[in-house]
Amino acid sequence: MNCESVIVWFRDDLRVADNPAFTAAVQSGLPVLPVYLWSPAEENPWEPGAASRWWLHQSLRSLEVSLGKLGLRLILRHGPSLEALRALAAEAGAKAVFWNRRYEPAIVERDKTAKASLRASGIDAQSFPGNLLREPWTIRNTAGQPFRVFTAFWKACQTGQPAPEPLPAPKSARAPLQWPASAALRDLGLEPQIDWAAGLRESWRPGETAAIERLDRFLESGLRSYGNARDIPAETGTSWLSAHLHFGEISPRQVWHKVARSASETEAAPYLRQLIWREFAFHTLFHFPATPSEPFNARFARFPWQYNRATFRAWSKGLTGYPMVDAGMRQLWHTGWMHNRVRMIVASFLVKHLLIPWQHGARWFWDTLVDADLANNTFGWQWAAGCGADPAPYFRIFNPVLQGEKFDARGNYIRRWIPELGRLPDRWIHCPWQAPKQILKAAGIVLGSTYPAPIVDHRLARERALDAFTSTCR
Ligand code: FAD
Repeated sequence: MNCESVIVWFRDDLRVADNPAFTAAVQSGLPVLPVYLWSPAEENPWEPGAASRWWLHQSLRSLEVSLGKLGLRLILRHGPSLEALRALAAEAGAKAVFWNRRYEPAIVERDKTAKASLRASGIDAQSFPGNLLREPWTIRNTAGQPFRVFTAFWKACQTGQPAPEPLPAPKSARAPLQWPASAALRDLGLEPQIDWAAGLRESWRPGETAAIERLDRFLESGLRSYGNARDIPAETGTSWLSAHLHFGEISPRQVWHKVARSASETEAAPYLRQLIWREFAFHTLFHFPATPSEPFNARFARFPWQYNRATFRAWSKGLTGYPMVDAGMRQLWHTGWMHNRVRMIVASFLVKHLLIPWQHGARWFWDTLVDADLANNTFGWQWAAGCGADPAPYFRIFNPVLQGEKFDARGNYIRRWIPELGRLPDRWIHCPWQAPKQILKAAGIVLGSTYPAPIVDHRLARERALDAFTSTCR
């Protein structure tokens, strides 16, 4: 390759190990110029939300440190991306730009334009596969179509080529003799102006090193019990890797191979299956790019949703009167994360009990989740609403009380997130409105004052949802 240096455009791949674009740049033997471009408008209408921006700030700082150990700097610039890349290439005399692919519709379009335009001006633009186990266009059903059902997709993944082994982190890299100017990290304005992020700081340590440590901890003490513990929200029964995976601080190949090596096939399977759900969500987003706003199942376009500001607000603030829903929404607000079982419960409650369009819930999650991810979030919401690829059947309506009794029998999760219910005996913890007056009094609870009465009646809400479904979508 005839060029003086290579730009590596970091995006959702904020790591140095198993980073194909970065490794290719290092292996070229040329000086390497790592860059991160902040250009949220290009992600429109899915600019990173507030919690994601907080994470991104910490993650970029961590990447600066990792690159620093290799004698490299991370150049930070504002977008538009193509202009920034051109400017940087001109300043640094770089004639190549390498990046790992992303799969969100707006980004796919932007990257296509960037690649064509850079190449047209003599810059060697190359993209690499770094963020999925398999590229979405490499998996097709026997009719040559994208998969629409998870089980068939999972089988195809099991029988196809195994995901390649991860690449090791480069041990050294060639640095340019002179570094181009960079914005300061704080100039990107990612951290909140009014500091609301204490709960996030308490809960998370973003960055590649922390991601690997978290995976190792999970392999040691969580993987073998994952199949049983993953549905219990009061326990740390899952890996908590979603935000690390979203920002690419760890790659799915690293996780896949370490997990597969750390346990028997049977023990590893339930966890590996979740990684394939992630792949399936990306597969769906890539092949059906309208799904972040439109139902996958077109019949749901007629569904009689009823947006209501007051009930949406009660849901988002964790004030519905249903403890399992409220605990989840408060966990989300405080930590930027929510347990998967509880995501399903709160999402089902919003779309079925309140009949609020799933897109509103997806937006709220988008702004508040540290792992907000267009593929997984869209998939999760469409699944819960019953309108997605391989969704929960619409008529299966979660009862938040029974879900609570099943997955949080002792009420530990509720007591953690709703301290005002802390003194309620287990029997009533998921349905305080059914508790006798003297029990409520002894627990210091005044319904409607210290904790809300339910904003809808489960039985009536269920009937209303089923009627709406039967009359329009069946
Ligand atoms: P683990 O149980 O340890 O799973 C390991 C990894 O597998 C996860 O990190 C994740 O990358 C993947 N995974 C697990 N479950 C799913 C799933 N159901 N669908 C797709 N991938 C999965 N996940 C996100 O990463 N970002 C989101 O924005 C997001 N929004 C969601 C919204 C709703 C309504 C629902 C029901 C689910 C959503 N999920 C989302 C999926 C899932 O809840 C999270 O990935 C999981 O809770 C993250 O915790 P963990 O890393 O401990 O998961």
